Amino acid sequence: MKRFHIRAQRINNIFISHLHGDHYLGLMGLLSTMHLLGRKKPLKLYGPKGLAEIITLQLKYSETVFNYEVEFHTVDTQVHRVVHEDDFIRVHSIPLNHRIPCSGYLFEEKPKKRRIIKEMLPPDFSVRNIVRLKNGEDIEDEEGNIAYENTKYTHPPKKSFKYAYCSDTKYDESILPYIQGVDMLYHESTFLDEQAERAANTFHSTAKEAATIAKKAGAGRLLLGHFSIRYKELEPLKEEARTVFENSDLAIEGEDYVLGNS
Ligand SMILES: [Zn+2]
Ligand SMILES: [Zn+2]
Repeated sequence: MKRFHIRAQRINNIFISHLHGDHYLGLMGLLSTMHLLGRKKPLKLYGPKGLAEIITLQLKYSETVFNYEVEFHTVDTQVHRVVHEDDFIRVHSIPLNHRIPCSGYLFEEKPKKRRIIKEMLPPDFSVRNIVRLKNGEDIEDEEGNIAYENTKYTHPPKKSFKYAYCSDTKYDESILPYIQGVDMLYHESTFLDEQAERAANTFHSTAKEAATIAKKAGAGRLLLGHFSIRYKELEPLKEEARTVFENSDLAIEGEDYVLGNS
């Protein structure tokens, strides 16, 4: 995060999928760093049962008290439900099929406000009416006639995006209804298809399976990740996925993957 200039203090919510080490062992270090950097505002932590216990135990035996509050939210990994919501975003859990309880997450932007065309409005136009225009209302004059027709003074809102994070999991079509039409899907792709049996036995997926899920979900784009260390070259995983779903890419640390500009 430091290398890519991501400021830890701007993070207010952390979502943990499951308690295999490669998915959360860095967490205690991050929480401690936030403490040392002088964090005061609370942090919300979402994850399966056991996460709160592990963190609490580490704090207990290191006799550490953070100078900020960690708010634990236990996620039921068996159900699809809202686990977090604020003014801008809604997050659902996605039950995944892994060796231990595991949840993916669907991040959904809420509808955005309409965009004001500033130069069309008189300089003394009130803030209250700007808010109304942003909310899609027409503004009437004292006689009740429409003085400012919304569509003339605003552009439509920017698109709201959906991103689904699905790792770790074996191939399982039961997640399809939850991720239907997402703009971007991150799906684990631990193995190549030649290891399909091994993938199934270890509750992981192949690149081809990840691509099949993306295709069946009508996803806009697929990001592959969670590659087995056996693969020195990752291109074959991408090529395999592209035979099923063209818009597939490797998730590489430090790269940006932008969800449209409109
Ligand atoms: Zn795992
Ligand atoms: Zn893993």
